[in-house]
Amino acid sequence: DPRIAKISSAIRVIPNFPKPGIMFQDITTLLLDTKAFRDTIDLFVERYRGKDISVVAGVEARGFIFGPPIALAIGAKFVPMRKPNKLPGEVISEEYSLEYGTDKMEMHVGAVQAGERALIIDDLIATGGTLVAAIRLLERVGVHVVECACVIELPELKGRERLGDKPLFVLVSST
Ligand code: 5GP
Repeated sequence: DPRIAKISSAIRVIPNFPKPGIMFQDITTLLLDTKAFRDTIDLFVERYRGKDISVVAGVEARGFIFGPPIALAIGAKFVPMRKPNKLPGEVISEEYSLEYGTDKMEMHVGAVQAGERALIIDDLIATGGTLVAAIRLLERVGVHVVECACVIELPELKGRERLGDKPLFVLVSST
């Protein structure tokens, strides 16, 4: 798809952020390119429209940028998957491991119902730990996670393997 190359080149890489040795994939420059941003949303919408998905779950923070326009376009609700202690209502939470220590992801109880079909959106998959936590949260309440989708995959970190047989769709692979 000719749109992919433009999306890829609209993503800026910032070396040594947030730590020395990390090549940070900065999607804020993609948001400045109105054509590439629209194409990004369109590519996801073209894939998921008509697939009977009633939930788009977006992972904080950049899943909150790409998730809502996709949800609106396919007629699904948007459910935020948040960092701990941000959601005001009753939550269920899932702990997951980071490079150093652990983090938690939370979702409002009652936001989704058992038997619903969900798509999980984030900007990037690295080790896959974040997406695994999001899948677990939804599956614990009986939701079927149809697929995970990201703008960028860092294939060297093998996050896709961590997802097991859960399908992952990405627009750009970055080496
Ligand atoms: P993982 O859990 O797969 O190791 O890390 C993925 C999470 O970290 C995502 O929520 C993603 O937003 C964030 N992340 C890690 N590295 C980068 C990066 O280079 N660029 C951006 N935009 N996000 C990153």
